[in-house]
Amino acid sequence: MIKTLKDIDNLLEKHIEYRKSCLNLIASENYSSDIVRGYLTSDLGNRYGCYDTSDPSNREYTGNKYIHEIEMATQELVKEVFGGKYVDLRPISGHMAGMAVVLGILEPDDLVIEIHLKDWGHGLVDPMRQISHLGKTIRVEFMRFDENNELDVEYLKKMARELRPKLIIFGGSGTLFPEPVREFRELADELGIILAYDASHVTGLIAGRVFPNPLDEGADILFGSTHKSFPGPQGGFVVSNRKDLMEKIGNTLSPSLVTSHHLNRIPAFAASLLEMKEFGHEYGKQIIKNSKALAEAMAKRGFNVLGAKRGYTETHLLLVDVGEYVDQAPGKLLEKAKILCSDDFSGASPQIRVGTPEVTRRGMKEVEMDYIAELFKRVLIDKEDVNQVAKDVEAFVAKYQDLEFAFK
Ligand SMILES: *Cc1c(COP(=O)(O)O)cnc(C)c1O
Repeated sequence: MIKTLKDIDNLLEKHIEYRKSCLNLIASENYSSDIVRGYLTSDLGNRYGCYDTSDPSNREYTGNKYIHEIEMATQELVKEVFGGKYVDLRPISGHMAGMAVVLGILEPDDLVIEIHLKDWGHGLVDPMRQISHLGKTIRVEFMRFDENNELDVEYLKKMARELRPKLIIFGGSGTLFPEPVREFRELADELGIILAYDASHVTGLIAGRVFPNPLDEGADILFGSTHKSFPGPQGGFVVSNRKDLMEKIGNTLSPSLVTSHHLNRIPAFAASLLEMKEFGHEYGKQIIKNSKALAEAMAKRGFNVLGAKRGYTETHLLLVDVGEYVDQAPGKLLEKAKILCSDDFSGASPQIRVGTPEVTRRGMKEVEMDYIAELFKRVLIDKEDVNQVAKDVEAFVAKYQDLEFAFK
């Protein structure tokens, strides 16, 4: 119960100590630097900056003189880091950025192809089908993946020809390798399909130039989160070279989806963009080295790490089929050992998704990945007492409380 400020402080202190004592391998989380966190408390967190998409300078509220300047300057930074002529920073999360793209571009009855939840999709469009207009709603079909989480490109081309979707959304929550966006550009032109890329997971890798920028590969729209592999404040954004699409997306964001767009995110995002300009490339390279090292170390210990044929991964995460060792999703068991990662059992066999962004920011390198693989083995293969493993995890993470690739 919260009666005084002290009660809040106590709870927060507990949370911070607890998370400090855990090994965070959640691919969709990160640790932003104190400088970035500091900007979140700025005055902008109490202001309104809503504007009509056709003219951002004409803000609905008064008192927006510098808010406008900060937001526009941050848009310029996004253009510099992600490319693209047009930017919208109003989505307050990656999911909302995706909603704006889908609802802005599609009409009832239009078809979109996305990645299914069971293939580590985000489940972006499918739930939106509950929004119907005169009994009609968006139609959704799904790409096909094999047991190594590899996209069936030929099947997707066939689907595109036969089903004529209006929109294809590449990018999911378990991306191991760059998607074949370039291969689809010509077909998209021929059939009039809009290609969007949901970069929620890989924005940090794109900013660090260690993952192909989908806009360079021919995507019409790039959208995503600012807090996964990209170590910024929680938030979302959309970038594109197409003014027509950005107008539709913007007109959907405002007034349908957002009025206050949580302006304190904007200077914090600007600070993390500057941080990524300075450290992003080295950070991205180390993330991928760590992911590969962890994948190899786990495979060496008998784990079925997906994507072996292609070197396991080219991103900030790896996927491991653990069906041989457990008959349920093992996230909660690992949590007892103070190892945090995501699991999934919506497919044929339970899998874990192990991400390296935060441990990389914490200064871990290839040697530490070998130790982490051993921790997974102790819990999942050796079935060692989780309390014993938890003690070792605590002692291990205590040595990595600094932050690298960050402004200090
Ligand atoms: C996380 C995620 C999102 C949603 O992002 P939020 O910022 O959490 O709203 C959208 N798409 C994909 C593929 C994701 O992994």
